[in-house]
This record gives sequence, C-alpha cells and structure tokens, in this order.
Amino acid sequence: MVTTLMDNATISPTNRYWELEGGMDVLTDATAAPLKNDIRMGCRVTRLVQTDTGVRIETCAESGTEESCDGAPTAPDECFEGDYAIVTIPFSALRFRRVQPSMSYPKRRAVSDLHYAPATKVLLEFKTRFWENSPDGFTGGGCTSDSPSRFTYLPSHAPASSPGGVVLASYTWSDDAMRWDSLTEGERYAFALDDMEQLFGPVVRREYTGVGATQPWTRARYALGQAAVFTPGQLRELHPATRTVEGRVHFAGEHTSLKPAWIEGALESAVRAFLEVHPR
Ligand SMILES: Cc1cc2nc3c(=O)[nH]c(=O)nc-3n(C[C@H](O)[C@H](O)[C@H](O)COP(=O)(O)OP(=O)(O)OC[C@H]3O[C@@H](n4cnc5c(N)ncnc54)[C@H](O)[C@@H]3O)c2cc1C
Repeated sequence: MVTTLMDNATISPTNRYWELEGGMDVLTDATAAPLKNDIRMGCRVTRLVQTDTGVRIETCAESGTEESCDGAPTAPDECFEGDYAIVTIPFSALRFRRVQPSMSYPKRRAVSDLHYAPATKVLLEFKTRFWENSPDGFTGGGCTSDSPSRFTYLPSHAPASSPGGVVLASYTWSDDAMRWDSLTEGERYAFALDDMEQLFGPVVRREYTGVGATQPWTRARYALGQAAVFTPGQLRELHPATRTVEGRVHFAGEHTSLKPAWIEGALESAVRAFLEVHPR
C-alpha cells in the first residue's frame, strides 16, 4: 500500500500527517482482497440463533433503498451455520436483530443504551475551484464557523480532467447534525449554499452546478448513527459488556474498543476477537 507524506510545515511544527493515496477504501479493499471468495455481500443479518453445538445466522437478500417503504423482511433467504460467530455490526443495528436465546442482561443493556451520535454531510459541486484562484487562494483545508454548516472542507486533490470540484459544504455532529436531518435533501443544499456564500461571497452561486449529495448517518439503515460516542458514565457502566462473549458468539467493532468512533478502535477489536476465537 502506498502512502505519501504530506507537506505539513504550515499545519503544525510537530505533527506529521500521512495520506492513503487513492482514498481510505484502499485500506479496506486491500484487507478484503485475500478473502474475496469468502465474503458475501447483499446479505442482511436478520436473526442469530445459538445452540450448544453451533450458531446459525439467518439473512435476507438486500432490497430497496433507504427511501423506499418496504416492510422489514420476514422469512430468511439464506442461512449460514458455524461453530462460532463474530458479530461486528453496530449495536444500534443489532438492536433490530433477533438473538436467540436472549443474551445476558449486561449485554442487552449495552445494546439498547449505548449512545450513537448523529453525523451529517452535505456536499456541493462547483464548475470551478474558485477558492484556489482568489487572492487568498488555497488548496485543501477547512473553515469553521458558527453557521449551521459549522465545518466546511475544501478538496485537497483536484481532478486532473476538470476545473471543477466538490466541497464538503457542511459536516456536523450531534445536535448540529440532528437539525440537518430534519430537512429535505433540497433544503440541505440550499442552506449549505447560503452558508458558503457567507464565507466566499456571490461567486458561490455563480459556480454551483446545482448538483449535491448528502448523507445523514442516522438515516443509514446499516449504521443507525455515526459511531458509538459514550455519554458520561457509559464507559464504566456499559463498555465492559460490549466485548464479553455470549456462549459461542464474540463481538468486535469500534464500539467494543477503548477507541470508539475511530478506525483504529475497530482494527484493535478485530485483533482481540481473533485472539479470543482462535484458541477455541
Ligand atoms: C461521517 C463519519 C466520519 C468518520 N471519520 C472518521 C475519521 O476521520 N477517523 C476515524 O478513524 N474514524 C472515523 N469514523 C469512524 C469509523 O468509520 C468507524 O469507527 C469504523 O468504520 C468502525 O468500523 P466497524 O467495523 O466497527 O463498523 P462499520 O464500519 O460500521 O461496519 C459495520 C458493518 O456492519 C454492516 N451491517 C450493519 N447491519 C447489518 C446487518 N443487519 N446485516 C449485515 N451487515 C450489517 C454495515 O453495513 C457495515 O458494513 C467516521 C465515521 C463516520 C460515519
């Protein structure tokens, strides 16, 4: 995997920043490549049944979109059986899955009570990267403001074939994100454009292509929130139970680590779960 040392002289005298060339999915794609024949996509876990001798995972085929109004799937399309299972879906998603027999009380409480923070992004496309061309022009970086958009990030890479660019016009968390989640997609683009105009002036409207994209993670049906963000007391009261083994079922994922909401926490939890299951 190729990494590039970024020029950080102007960011901080002591910090060094590294970037995965090609984007973060380079990491997951490289990790998944040796397993490509074993990974099954499009199977949504609906139920986990455990006996004294093994674990059965019931799944349904993927259907619809986040906006379609299909009911929750009932009959399983495909079942997988094994000696053990490692459950890595967020607890926010596990809350809607049936687990039989019922898990221990501390685990059920962790599943039901663990706080998942909202996060929402609004991206806008522009015909030109006008922010690079102004007298104070710059490439990459971000703006923090008191506007509803709060955080705005400019692209650090220019598409070679185009003078245009896509700006992460608004990136919000927690209460700030929940307000964006209440808006329609069209309203999100309009308000994010207003806020960018406050930062950059009328050029923003002239250069906007009319195209945007937005993702509220509370509305993502496989995430149901951005990530686990422990509220006061939850680290002591809930965290220990996130990683305890339930018979033949082990648990991994950022929410089971002491670095929740970070990729590093997810990776650490994978190592822990491997070390638990391997000797069995
Ligand atoms: C907007 C945003 C910004 C972030 N920024 C950073 C950052 O800058 N740095 C950083 O380190 N971390 C960041 N994170 C956090 C990081 O993405 C997570 O910590 C990490 O991805 C967690 O990995 P995981 O494997 O535990 O869970 P996930 O990556 O959430 O994987 C869980 C998987 O379970 C699947 N799933 C859910 N339900 C089911 C089901 N019923 N059946 C089958 N599959 C199911 C999901 O589709 C998903 O693929 C960010 C997260 C978000 C949302």
